[in-house]
Amino acid sequence: MSLVQQNVTTIKNFVGGSWIESTTNEYQDVLDPATGNCIAKVPISTFVDVNKAVEVAETAFHNWKKVPVPKRARILFKYHQLLTDNHEQLAELVTKENGKSYKEAFGEVLRGIECVEFATGAPSLMMGDNLSTIATDIDSQFFRYPIGLVAGISPFNFPMMVPCWMFPIAIACGNTFILKPSERTPLLANRLAELLKEAGLPDGVFNIVHGAHDVVNGLIDHDQVKAISFVGSEPVAQYVYKSAAAKGKRVQALAGAKNHHIVMPDADRKTAIQNIISSTYGSAGQRCMACSAVVAVGESADAFLEAFKHEVDKVKMGNGLNDDVILTPMIREENKKRALAYIDKGIAEGAVLLRDGRKDMKHFSEGNFLGPTIFDHVTPDMSIAKDEIFAPILSVIRADNLHEALEIVNHSRFGNSATLYTDSAKAVRQFREEAEPGMLGVNVGVPAPMAFFPFSGWKNSFFGDLHVNGKDGVAFYTRKKMITSRF
Ligand code: NAD
Repeated sequence: MSLVQQNVTTIKNFVGGSWIESTTNEYQDVLDPATGNCIAKVPISTFVDVNKAVEVAETAFHNWKKVPVPKRARILFKYHQLLTDNHEQLAELVTKENGKSYKEAFGEVLRGIECVEFATGAPSLMMGDNLSTIATDIDSQFFRYPIGLVAGISPFNFPMMVPCWMFPIAIACGNTFILKPSERTPLLANRLAELLKEAGLPDGVFNIVHGAHDVVNGLIDHDQVKAISFVGSEPVAQYVYKSAAAKGKRVQALAGAKNHHIVMPDADRKTAIQNIISSTYGSAGQRCMACSAVVAVGESADAFLEAFKHEVDKVKMGNGLNDDVILTPMIREENKKRALAYIDKGIAEGAVLLRDGRKDMKHFSEGNFLGPTIFDHVTPDMSIAKDEIFAPILSVIRADNLHEALEIVNHSRFGNSATLYTDSAKAVRQFREEAEPGMLGVNVGVPAPMAFFPFSGWKNSFFGDLHVNGKDGVAFYTRKKMITSRF
């Protein structure tokens, strides 16, 4: 596999179709998580940079909203083709800046491309509705319109997929867009912008302002920004939701998670083990849909755990660009330190450290590696059961039956996803009816919905009303106008 040749360049903002240097004096290193090498410098942009982008995107909106919807969709068809043609290069870039394995990155790019595929349906998706003779001689109809300039703020863990949850539908619906990518993974976003320009998107419709808090606060403060899509950790999601809503904006804020996998005694053990390994340790556990807690049900739990640990011992750890690697580095040194502190906490809280991933670290002189870690006999009130650790650390909680397992799942303040491993239709029905997470899996390791359905976290995993993707995404980025007529 060829490496993406990435010189240490200072990356620029993308405003009005041009690459613009930020007005800031502050830059951060973008580090390759597998080596610690600096691969680029990202500007921590200022309010001045935000103001400029807002002005440009606001001006572009007045023309873009008038472009016929099928014409907007055709640009996205071209974009879809360009993304597909560059699939491998985009995946390599994701691996380079995020650290996840090339296979995972390839899958992520595909998930992003599917969002563009969905957005090409804008002419049908944006259709309104009507009813003749709603009253005597009166007809009613509604049309959908874009809402204006909208902004997206994304996390480090899906540099391709998460922005693609946002801007393709937003621009297909006639809005203009400002993206603030994670300052830890800013490179992929710039490649997305280059390809949008190549696809023929008019200047100013899609813009990028790199940076951190100041850019986020600048976007929240601007009256011209009509909606904000946020994806990131729970405290920041809450903050963005509250402060942007207080400014009268539409907000969808997707947040953290603690995802449970319930293993029933009748589960296909091989399937459950392979799925849990890939869900827990893939991307070093840094996925909002990662399994971070197993609820092992019944007396077969011991046999299950023994077989599970045996397979975990075989997990290959290393640079995501190497073949067959499952466990890749964590994004930054401080994330690894935080994970190590949770191992100490788990031990102090009385959980049994069944597999200590710290011992695997000695094989790596560089990079933020932590080996697969398993805690057994965890109880629901321990911090390792409650908190999102976002690391390759699994908590195993024991339960006597499905009812007890569901109580454990629903005890969590998060509600992103849960999976049940079983052959029993009755158990599946009980799981579907009683489990509180908004995305459920049955014998599936990562039950992430595809772009055609909403990404539906519940409880503290989501702040807002309309979710990203699917018809929710279209509703979020449009507003309706009703006409009642008598002739
Ligand atoms: P993060 O909250 O640190 O950062 C997310 C974005 O917010 C970044 O662009 C960052 O620059 C910005 N930001 C950070 N702190 C801020 C502050 N104080 N004020 C204003 N802006 C701020 O999240 P992360 O570490 O990049 O990503 C991991 C988190 O994202 C995890 O909690 C994960 O569960 C969550 N996530 C959730 C979903 C979902 O669908 N629910 C998907 C992906 C990631």
